[in-house]
Amino acid sequence: MSIAQNLQHITEQLPAGIKLVAVSKFHPVERIMEAYDAGQRIFGENRAQELAAKAPQMPTDIEWHFIGHLQKNKVRMIMPWVSTIQSIDSTQLLQLVDKEAARIDRHVDVLLQLHVAKEQTKSGFAVDEILEAAENGAFNNLSNVTITGVMAMATFTDDMDQVASEFELVHNTFRTLREKYFASNPAFKEISMGMSDDWPVAVKHGATLVRIGTDIFGQREY
Ligand SMILES: *Cc1c(COP(=O)(O)O)cnc(C)c1O
Repeated sequence: MSIAQNLQHITEQLPAGIKLVAVSKFHPVERIMEAYDAGQRIFGENRAQELAAKAPQMPTDIEWHFIGHLQKNKVRMIMPWVSTIQSIDSTQLLQLVDKEAARIDRHVDVLLQLHVAKEQTKSGFAVDEILEAAENGAFNNLSNVTITGVMAMATFTDDMDQVASEFELVHNTFRTLREKYFASNPAFKEISMGMSDDWPVAVKHGATLVRIGTDIFGQREY
């Protein structure tokens, strides 16, 4: 199937109001343009250099989401291009992103990444860590950043009960954060979770943004 057909197939199944991030990492600009021409406007990349190389070649009405682990020395590289950084995994990174956004007079949305998977290689705040950071005021007093929600990845497994319980934990943590710490911030409303293999489970457990690569663009060649 073509990229346009893949996109159509997915958007037909996505409930209304749930946004699709087309994860274009490792795919060339020509393939991304196929998705763009089919109407897709939100794209996700997980490597700073790759995003900074592709974005200037693409139409300016694209919303670029950064979804990978972001090293502090790469923040400046992506800042002119991103609309959302989904993968804020420390309070230090958050502070730096706010500072760099202010430096170039931009505003960015960010999601706080939660670590709920079994793999230690995945990054993000543990649930108790994020609650503690919120309690300590780490998410207040930002000038050029709006925290719009949380992001997470489930364990890479066929066990969909495991995946479902991790997504449920994300949902519950989001609710706690919203009620206790973000009640006065109506922008705090997004839950980004679900990839090609598990997005229907994620949607069932409250996802508002899904991040799909393989099911749109095919296998990546690393
Ligand atoms: C690559 C990636 C995806 C997309 O994965 P697919 O299985 O190809 O749909 C989603 N989220 C993150 C953070 C990724 O790195």
